[in-house]
Amino acid sequence: TYVITEPCVDVLDRSCIDECPVDCIYEGGRMLYIHPDECIDCGACEPVCPVEAIYDEDDVPDEYQAYTQANAEFFTEL
Ligand code: SF4
Repeated sequence: TYVITEPCVDVLDRSCIDECPVDCIYEGGRMLYIHPDECIDCGACEPVCPVEAIYDEDDVPDEYQAYTQANAEFFTEL
């Protein structure tokens, strides 16, 4: 699963949405979120993000770790 992190907040460039082959990137409030069960780990979204907000779950920097959890919770609450 790929995860969108802090740099996306209030940016919402949406370039990633156009790249995702399974349409699993959703808009929610101040940022975008990747559905963890729908993401096929293709990696297509990562390089197109202009603010480098997208990381593979295993590569999320320490300072953005909370976003992995926030991402999962976003879909739990829907
Ligand atoms: Fe979509 Fe691929 Fe990015 Fe997952 S890694 S969100 S499937 S573009």
